Amino acid sequence: MSKVKIVCKKCGKKLLSYDEPGFHRYGSPIKQCPKCYTRYADPRFHEVAIEGVPARLFSIKSYIVLVIFGGLLLWRGIYLFGMYDIKAPAETQWFMPSVIAGIGGLVILGGIFEIIYIVSGKKKAKYERLFQESEKRLNDKSYAFTLQDLGYRVPDKYL
Ligand SMILES: [Zn+2]
Repeated sequence: MSKVKIVCKKCGKKLLSYDEPGFHRYGSPIKQCPKCYTRYADPRFHEVAIEGVPARLFSIKSYIVLVIFGGLLLWRGIYLFGMYDIKAPAETQWFMPSVIAGIGGLVILGGIFEIIYIVSGKKKAKYERLFQESEKRLNDKSYAFTLQDLGYRVPDKYL
């Protein structure tokens, strides 16, 4: 994976350096250089009122797939407990199966948690709140213009 690096255009201070280009958060992308206070846009942050929310975040089907995947890992881990041909010393035979089963269990819990979160309507409420906060920020014209100046695509209705 390529590393994302951002340096301050004014003073050259290293602002961001991270490995996950897919890292995605909702909130204001406008940040300030801690050294010279020049503003910059943090590409990890997104205005939900402009970009919306990917449908997969609310897809129960994709979380069911995740739970099944977790189930397969758990099953595999439990299955490996009975095997003595994995290349590890006898005392550590239990280690890999435990890790695999443990990850499987966590994936199952995570998937079930997300499904409950969606079905209960709490997830929708959370994103509605984020949307309103985002819209509120963007309704401030100076905010919208600053965002655009920093290279973020802002729809005309906010400008
Ligand atoms: Zn700076």
